[in-house]
Amino acid sequence: MKQMYASLGIGPEVYGYGEAVLAGLRERFAAIDDTAEYNQAKVLAAMQKNRVSGGCLAASTGYGYNDLGRETLEAVYADCFHTQAALVRPQITCGTHALALALSAILRPGDELMSPVGAPYDTLEEVIGIRPSPGSLAEFGIGYRQADLKPDGSFDYDAIRAAITPRTRLITIQRSKGYATRPSLSVERIGQLIAFCKSAKPDVLCMVDNCYGEFVQRIEPSDVGADMTVGSLIKNPGGGLAAAGGYICGTQECVEACARRLTAPGLGKEVGANLGQLPAMYQGFFLAPTVTAGALKGAIFAAGVYEKLGFGCVPDAVEPRYDIIQAVTLGSPERMEAFCLGIQAAAPVDSHVTPVPWPMPGYDSDVIMAAGAFVQGSSIELSADGPIRPPYAVYFQGGLTWYHAKTGILMSLQKLYERGLVDLKG
Ligand SMILES: *Cc1c(COP(=O)(O)O)cnc(C)c1O
Repeated sequence: MKQMYASLGIGPEVYGYGEAVLAGLRERFAAIDDTAEYNQAKVLAAMQKNRVSGGCLAASTGYGYNDLGRETLEAVYADCFHTQAALVRPQITCGTHALALALSAILRPGDELMSPVGAPYDTLEEVIGIRPSPGSLAEFGIGYRQADLKPDGSFDYDAIRAAITPRTRLITIQRSKGYATRPSLSVERIGQLIAFCKSAKPDVLCMVDNCYGEFVQRIEPSDVGADMTVGSLIKNPGGGLAAAGGYICGTQECVEACARRLTAPGLGKEVGANLGQLPAMYQGFFLAPTVTAGALKGAIFAAGVYEKLGFGCVPDAVEPRYDIIQAVTLGSPERMEAFCLGIQAAAPVDSHVTPVPWPMPGYDSDVIMAAGAFVQGSSIELSADGPIRPPYAVYFQGGLTWYHAKTGILMSLQKLYERGLVDLKG
């Protein structure tokens, strides 16, 4: 085994360091496998209940009227998330689009959006208009308030109550930490938050940004009262196979509003050719529980390795996980670049290229990204990224298999080691 890793460029010191960390992780890995087994059965049952058939995999073109495969896939998602309806489309271009769609489907001029968990994901700042942007919700007269988490990560219920006004129409709750170093939220905590917001204002709707959270636990935000649960198909639920897309699972009323916004009033869910994407969308969803489990193991391994080296990790090596993201605070741009170079060098595609920071659309500082993915930009595949700003944290995620995630982490360590940026003996 050592020789095989050496052939990839991972030396015996780094390999040995990794094995020592892994020895302590077997029990946690077994618990992750149990969750995957549970979720595999959940997906399988939804596919059987909805009678997924060969005909569901056929391509449609043009308007896509009466698309059996599309409608069945949406029913499968709705059953897995225990919602009345779902919108699952390749025409939803990414996670940000899915979230923007859900927001603009519900909010009307004069309404307010409220985040009880602090600032939303970077790309939503322009959607909402926190950073002024043409076409933002702010431009349509939609207000925004937020209540920050307390320094210890708990909900600030007084601030939340104060931020819910008679105009508040929609509450947005981000499950994953995104590019912040706050803890990610468990589905149980999201449930408590939704219950509190609805007790403060019973007619308010709650949307959860579920990006990176799908299948990490046995329940989803839709099981604890979310009216809309939203995510990207090039993250967990696409299983690495979906070529593009996003989903919104929720109440009939909310999902129909989203469909009208995605297509047009009067058309809604009835149009939208599948363009031949359905086989990958079905198969990816089928594989998603095990792919997510592999990514989770990789995240835990990364925390184990980097925490032992003295770097801050969120979550740390032992705490429970509610998404597949691992933040590692490396403390310098040089270490961020070496880490990302290692992830890139471990990829099956584009392993020979060097990631460099660039001003990515939607982000307010330069971002470095490492990904050698079969699906461009897919972050359920092994990837790492982070904004080049203090505290110089990289966000590591994905890996279509646990073994590949492991290789990526070892390779990142190899690059840091070769450049003298870590001390394996210390
Ligand atoms: C990835 C992500 C998004 C945005 O998704 P894109 O597909 O990159 O547009 C939104 N919120 C969170 C928490 C995410 O992780």
